[in-house]
Amino acid sequence: MTSKAEQWEESLSLCVRCGRCRSVCPTLQVLRQETSVARGRVVLTRHLTEGCRGSATAYEILHTCLLCMACEDVCTNKVPVTEIVQRGRGLLRERGGSPRWKMALSWVLSHPRAMDFMAKTAGPLGLISPDGRTRGMLLRIPKLLEEGFFMPPISTTPFRNSFSGIETGGSKGRVLLFLGCLIDHSYPQIAEATVRLLHRLGYSCIVPRDQFCCGHPHLAMGFRKEAEAIIAANTELFSSTGADFILTACASCASTLKKEYDLPLPVLDVVELLQRHREDLSVSLPQGVKLATWHQPCHLGRGQGIDATELVQELLGERFSPMENPHRCCGFGGTLSVEFSHLSSEVGREKAEWIRESGAELVLTDCPACIMQIQRSLLAQDLSINVSHLVTILS
Ligand code: SF4
Ligand code: SF4
Repeated sequence: MTSKAEQWEESLSLCVRCGRCRSVCPTLQVLRQETSVARGRVVLTRHLTEGCRGSATAYEILHTCLLCMACEDVCTNKVPVTEIVQRGRGLLRERGGSPRWKMALSWVLSHPRAMDFMAKTAGPLGLISPDGRTRGMLLRIPKLLEEGFFMPPISTTPFRNSFSGIETGGSKGRVLLFLGCLIDHSYPQIAEATVRLLHRLGYSCIVPRDQFCCGHPHLAMGFRKEAEAIIAANTELFSSTGADFILTACASCASTLKKEYDLPLPVLDVVELLQRHREDLSVSLPQGVKLATWHQPCHLGRGQGIDATELVQELLGERFSPMENPHRCCGFGGTLSVEFSHLSSEVGREKAEWIRESGAELVLTDCPACIMQIQRSLLAQDLSINVSHLVTILS
């Protein structure tokens, strides 16, 4: 039996530098440097593992990866690039290469009540503006303003604290709704629509108030130890609820819960629930919207192996207008969107162009982070096209 260390060594030696992944890497297309592609990032992480101290350049090479998994999709040697990049980031952090604001972010995301407090006070203190644009003090950073950085409004009360319908619904099963930080604090309408859908389909629904962030942001930043603490706390909580399965409307959370947790109950992305019940669903598009398109989040397609294109096409019928490259990353990349906002904007600009060409007045997707990033990219191009979660248009 091979040890974890041996497995890690082996995964680092899997890359044969064939360059197959070059054609699909969104960051290579913008940065145009050989280091800004999977094989460069894998080689660098190998050097870090062998004791190389790291540098500002090494930091940039690893932190400009979107973790979009497009390279993994085409790699014949099955190199686990995103895991390697995340571990490489962890090695840099150990050597003092992580900014303080990331430590603070990790801490806040690990303490739900601290996050609730910040959400409650950020608006009144003027840190974030009520309409979610970058006029609040916190985001009055020239670089971010220049790139048109977008923050959705933050609710003063998170959804999990306002939800009262603990056990309403039917007898098909008891569902634990996992919210994820963005839906909980900024997109409560997605949670409301998911609860409505569950009840209509005959499920009862519980929303544990003590649920944590899924741990994905910590893993992505290379904060594995912090992620493991969160995973342990969530696992204990979820195992005690008596739910039949966990449901989430965030593809990134679903992918993390499926890959990183060892849970005694199944996890379903809301898209999987829709696929199961497609006969019972109908769509009601917002007034004035004649055509809608679909963006496939990386964590849905490549992260969970689910393609929702057929489902969306079937639900929308003639009102569906496909975009070019629906599976291409939106350019968010978590903290990359703040730290390397120009790169994030450039990748997002292409996505906005494909959306414009589709002629759709609405973009549908399955991830709140994609919603935030795509909305930002569309606003930057002065395109008045809305972005919504698929679950919110179901009637
Ligand atoms: S990551 Fe895979 S596809 Fe890319 S260079 Fe290495 S072996 Fe080739
Ligand atoms: S995960 Fe995406 S951004 Fe990172 S190396 Fe692979 S294709 Fe490029």
